[in-house]
Amino acid sequence: MSTYDSEKVAKLHRELHSHLPSEPALRLKALETVLVEKGFLAADGVDKWLEDYSENVGPMNGAKVIAQAWTDPDYAMRLEQDADAAFVEVVPTAPHNYNLRAVFNTPQVHNLIVCTLCSCYPLGLLGMSPSWYKSAEYRARAVRDPRGVLSEFGTDLLDDVEVKVWDSTSDRRYMVVPSRPAGTDDWSKDDLANLVTRNSMIGTVRDLSPVGGAG
Ligand code: FE
Repeated sequence: MSTYDSEKVAKLHRELHSHLPSEPALRLKALETVLVEKGFLAADGVDKWLEDYSENVGPMNGAKVIAQAWTDPDYAMRLEQDADAAFVEVVPTAPHNYNLRAVFNTPQVHNLIVCTLCSCYPLGLLGMSPSWYKSAEYRARAVRDPRGVLSEFGTDLLDDVEVKVWDSTSDRRYMVVPSRPAGTDDWSKDDLANLVTRNSMIGTVRDLSPVGGAG
């Protein structure tokens, strides 16, 4: 005769729920459905927007700015002093309504960005933020153990490199300016921009050395 194992049933129940989308995701989907039904939104509108932000807007806007800074020292200085104005110089259409600060990596300093409170991120400049950026684990550990987090991203820093962690807010966002890799002196701005990754502008990746050569 089978017996009722309440613990086993509870476990099964939890597992079933863990496969359902989260409540905010379900609510968003319901809202999207209503907007489409009422004709306020094209059926593929949200997908197109998401695709545009993840594939086109970002991180290429940021990458263009980094490539400009690598090839023009005067521009790099302007980017350091007034990142908002400098960003608009290179990407006039990049939407943002917060104060941007560009923090520069050097041989002695490595910068890492986090939002400890929620998930603030320069969306219009770098595109969609990765899901790990929003995770409670990253938000807590980036501050408590930045070297450990970096190591998990394959970035092992020498002991004499100082790590600076920048905590974003709703009105102050940061972007990391990675160091230009060696061996790229004769590269075009477009090839340089293609080297720049989203993670390097968050700071979880430090070394952008090319594997093959200019593309
Ligand atoms: Fe936030």
